[in-house]
Amino acid sequence: AAKLIDGKAAAAAVDAAAADGARQIEAALGRPPCLAVVLVGDDPASQVYVRNKGRRTEAAGMRSVEHRLPADVSQADVVALVQALNADDGVDGILVQLPLPAGLDETEVVQTIRPDKDVDGLTAQSAGALVLGAPGMRPCTPSGSVFLAKQALGDLTGKSVVVIGRSILVGKPAALLFLAENCTVTLAHSRTQDLPAVCRQADIVIAAVGRPNLVKGDWIKPGACVIDVGINRVEGEAGKSRLVGDVDFDQAIETAGFITPVPGGVGPMTIAMLLANTVAAAARRAKVSVPDSVKDVLPG
Ligand code: NAD
Repeated sequence: AAKLIDGKAAAAAVDAAAADGARQIEAALGRPPCLAVVLVGDDPASQVYVRNKGRRTEAAGMRSVEHRLPADVSQADVVALVQALNADDGVDGILVQLPLPAGLDETEVVQTIRPDKDVDGLTAQSAGALVLGAPGMRPCTPSGSVFLAKQALGDLTGKSVVVIGRSILVGKPAALLFLAENCTVTLAHSRTQDLPAVCRQADIVIAAVGRPNLVKGDWIKPGACVIDVGINRVEGEAGKSRLVGDVDFDQAIETAGFITPVPGGVGPMTIAMLLANTVAAAARRAKVSVPDSVKDVLPG
């Protein structure tokens, strides 16, 4: 059976690296790095994420500020808030919690974020830097996926990677990050023909679809590393809901060499990488070197 990849432990290690970096920034600047989070509306899942982000930011010795706007706020007011945070020298990182309520233009809001404060790595500038292999902020969930794969397998050079899902948030940047690790990357999606056969080629499978148990055990090459990004709420026993990934875990654990559980795999890594990006943003903005502890955990 596969070895479990412990995302909670990995995230704790990255959080600790960020905390170490934050202390160095505070020693250099006289203030810790600061992350501003913008939450629009009252989506319950978003509220949980934002609360966890705030808690872990502070636990890592950084400053967390939260801005809450009502669901019926105007586009202009959201943009104006982001512009104010752009101009605030005490703010190092800006994260707009997605999705925004219907009627708001997410792309415009995200593009308003100054690239040097774009700790979610979702602006066109950050995406362009990723394509070019230039320095810049990398998206957090894909960064966490690379971190876990490296932890399981070591150097990834030459590995064949199949990423399932081509979203801007996860699949597409994940493919580019594994390419930067010298992997041979296939980016599969809903129109891919014979996805099971495509998957069976992979040394590393990244599932980022949002469909419970889509990836079956016999899609996995024996010994492969399976990184399950999916988070799906399904009905469990006694009417209670539970979280499952995109991979049929009970099947895949029999064939895989390494596998991430859901929950407790990629999930906790996202905030960890957000904290690391925030320290890096604070360092670059202040023109001090990015602490080694943080450089070591971020992808190239
Ligand atoms: P998305 O809906 O934006 O994209 C899904 C992608 O899957 C699309 O590119 C689509 O082409 C592909 N797809 C859909 N059906 C398919 C099929 N049958 N076969 C192959 N490909 C198919 O979703 P997303 O934002 O990329 O998120 C994907 C999953 O990852 C979701 O479950 C989400 O909850 C989860 N997620 C987790 C984290 C985290 O761990 N912190 C962060 C972001 C997203």
